[in-house]
Amino acid sequence: MAAVQLSERVWALPGGVNGGVIRGDDDRLLLIDPGINETAGKKALKAAREEIGGEVAAILTTHGHADHFGANAAVVKRTGAHVYAPAPDDAVLRYPILQPALLYGGADPLESLRGNFLLAKASPVDCVVAPGPLAVEGVTIEVVDLSGHSPGQVGYLIYDVFFCADVILPESVLEKYRIPYLFGVTDHLAALERAADVAFAKAVPGHGPLLDRLDEAIAINRNLVEAVADTTLELTERPATTEEILAGLLARFGSPAVDAPSFYLLQPTAAAFLAHLHRLERVSHEIRDGRAWWAAI
Ligand SMILES: [Zn+2]
Repeated sequence: MAAVQLSERVWALPGGVNGGVIRGDDDRLLLIDPGINETAGKKALKAAREEIGGEVAAILTTHGHADHFGANAAVVKRTGAHVYAPAPDDAVLRYPILQPALLYGGADPLESLRGNFLLAKASPVDCVVAPGPLAVEGVTIEVVDLSGHSPGQVGYLIYDVFFCADVILPESVLEKYRIPYLFGVTDHLAALERAADVAFAKAVPGHGPLLDRLDEAIAINRNLVEAVADTTLELTERPATTEEILAGLLARFGSPAVDAPSFYLLQPTAAAFLAHLHRLERVSHEIRDGRAWWAAI
């Protein structure tokens, strides 16, 4: 893993999940999102120690998704680093079963939802962060509320580098999933607006290439959310059940929901779009004949 220096004290660790390293006081290092598992954690640690120099004293987690925090435990075991994470995602770090359980309608998840990608090794959490200023190992950080992709996702603006997590997904990922997973559509749209207002020199998204500007990526991601919302509304022109609307969305967008993980990522996503439209008073919600029905207003 080659660390890419972005600023005097800030490096990106590009990979399947893009991480970061910040040099604090006395060569104490801050690691951002070391990745999915022990192998990723060891790689991030090696890059931090050998390419940058110093010891990892803190891990900053952007959100409670396994691919971002699954490596925390391995790094903590080797360094004793303190873990910082936003609420309520900190609950998922401590109890990772919550991630597949949330996707599986709040129930004891199927075995097929317990792979590396959805069920991480538990991470300790030493400090719950909130949006606003934060000081860690002599580094001044602005924590930016980017909730929506997860209940409490945050970005970290450090010197002039913006670690913006999964608030925007690169075209390669959008192309693959067609409809990106969302916990909350209303919050996600607000997060895109907030991300657009952040001043930075370089952005490090959770996935994909490092960016000099976010406006184009924000527009692509926002347009897709609006297209999914419009299609959801169209699918309720005649009263429809949640299951019918989900199937309609998967068909219209050509989403490859071919196995349990891909299907159960999109089931709550469809529910998130419906809740958003209901909040805007665009659809009505009714329980009848043992089903949840939605109809455009
Ligand atoms: Zn994520």
